[in-house]
Amino acid sequence: MTGFYIHVPFCVRKCVYCDFYSLETLNGPIPDRLKAQPPTQTEFLDALEREIAGLPTDFRPDTLFIGGGTPTELADADLQRLLDLVAPLMARGACVEWTCESNPGTLTAAKARMIKDAGAQRMSMGVQSFDAKNLEFLGRIHDANDVHVGFALLRDAGFTNINLDLIYGIPTSDPDKTRHDIEQVIALNPEHVSCYCLTFEEGTPLMDMKQRGYVREVDGELEREQYQLIRKALRATGYEQYEISNFARPGYACRHNQLYWGNGEYIGCGPSAHSHWRGRRYANVRSLRRYCRALLNGESPVAFEETLDPEAKARETLVMGLRRLEGVSREAFRAATGFDYRTLHGDEITQLCAIGMLEERDDVLRLSEDGLYVSNAVFAELV
Ligand code: SF4
Repeated sequence: MTGFYIHVPFCVRKCVYCDFYSLETLNGPIPDRLKAQPPTQTEFLDALEREIAGLPTDFRPDTLFIGGGTPTELADADLQRLLDLVAPLMARGACVEWTCESNPGTLTAAKARMIKDAGAQRMSMGVQSFDAKNLEFLGRIHDANDVHVGFALLRDAGFTNINLDLIYGIPTSDPDKTRHDIEQVIALNPEHVSCYCLTFEEGTPLMDMKQRGYVREVDGELEREQYQLIRKALRATGYEQYEISNFARPGYACRHNQLYWGNGEYIGCGPSAHSHWRGRRYANVRSLRRYCRALLNGESPVAFEETLDPEAKARETLVMGLRRLEGVSREAFRAATGFDYRTLHGDEITQLCAIGMLEERDDVLRLSEDGLYVSNAVFAELV
């Protein structure tokens, strides 16, 4: 399986917690830092067209994920142009899954239909919460009603595979609000649900608020309570948890993301997009202006690249694979990487099993219930 990712670098307004690369298009006063006018959506698409035209001729993606940023922030004509750019490429491969992200605040019936008609089978919508205070705290541009309207638009357009994103661990939230959020999600009956704990990333307004003492991170026990509440509610209604943050109805696990967790190959286009292709990892420049300038001058937009040696790649494969609840089979890992995970990390694995963070049964290594909750700390021991 090979994946294709497109990064659309525009959002109406930045959410306070977000560290994905995107520029605010704002329907209001333009802040000083943006007054130098970033390239327009047309210039972005001109550059993207060049990047796509230069992709390897043997690149035949099986999955496509159009993300960002907010793809549905593009004007109708620009969105159609983007879809027309990627459709011929998807026709080269099997196209087993084509997902497009959407924001309830920018989704319209026309856009939903346009995306469906182009060939997408799956939509993802950023809900995050149904609580007005939570949405305001996060800086989201929509309210709970927009989510209900947006979800109906997607169903009306014919989408039978929809993911909804939720965030827990929000300082303005509590277990009751989390329970309400997950009940609302379940009532909509999407095929897939992703639930992430709010993280305070360097360089975001949220981190700035914390450093100035305006906001505090939610207590770890409370976060854990909210996570367990979500897991329990989803399990009770037939969703299977297949990854730390991801739940699906049987047969609806996201194939594109599974490709990442399997350390598979993919190519990303757009500013800041990452690729893993023919053993090389590389990333485009995190600036729309420089991305456009490079491509429109016939230069490469790549700002970083590395080739991992086989052992480093095997370590990475182990950590990525442990994100999946099914765990990592020792035999399959050896076949895929040429390494035994016990040779790479024998002491660490023994130690992590002894303190109950990992479990190894029948030669399959996986996160334990406790390990699921502190997965980043577990992974830090294994890289
Ligand atoms: S809409 Fe999504 S990509 Fe845009 S700022 Fe918010 S979280 Fe980030």
